[in-house]
Amino acid sequence: MRCPFCKEDKDKVVDSRSSEGGRIVRRRRLCLACQRRFTTYERAEDSIKLTVVKKDGSRVPYDRQRIIAGVQKACYKRPISLKQIEDLAEEVEEEIFRRQGQEVSSRFIGEETITRLRKLDKVAYVRYASVYKEFADPDQFVSEAQELKQHPQDPDGQQKLFRE
Ligand SMILES: [Zn+2]
Repeated sequence: MRCPFCKEDKDKVVDSRSSEGGRIVRRRRLCLACQRRFTTYERAEDSIKLTVVKKDGSRVPYDRQRIIAGVQKACYKRPISLKQIEDLAEEVEEEIFRRQGQEVSSRFIGEETITRLRKLDKVAYVRYASVYKEFADPDQFVSEAQELKQHPQDPDGQQKLFRE
């Protein structure tokens, strides 16, 4: 790989990691001529075209941004950073690519998302569940919602829970 600084074509890979559910490989390279480091990204030419099957049977192209947008909405005014939300989406995506074929149900995505959101923030979890109604275990949702009502993590969040 040609060095972007000195244009020499002598380097070695010092670190390599995959992201976006293994679809992108990021390589950290060290130029042996000028000793500077640069990064390259490698993506399969024919990246998997993943389709999401919605509850009504309609199909839309998979878009990670949708997961992020849904979680962001649930995390509104919660102490959750964008980085945490992006990490969550990445984990969900890895799960999708590990388990599913060319198609994935919106329900599967919803369940994988909510399982992780529950660990991250209870208020966001209950909001998400009440909007998407795609939780794995409705009984658990009800008991957690009640628990939240009785022992709110912060009084402000509890009042706003179902209003937004
Ligand atoms: Zn160089």
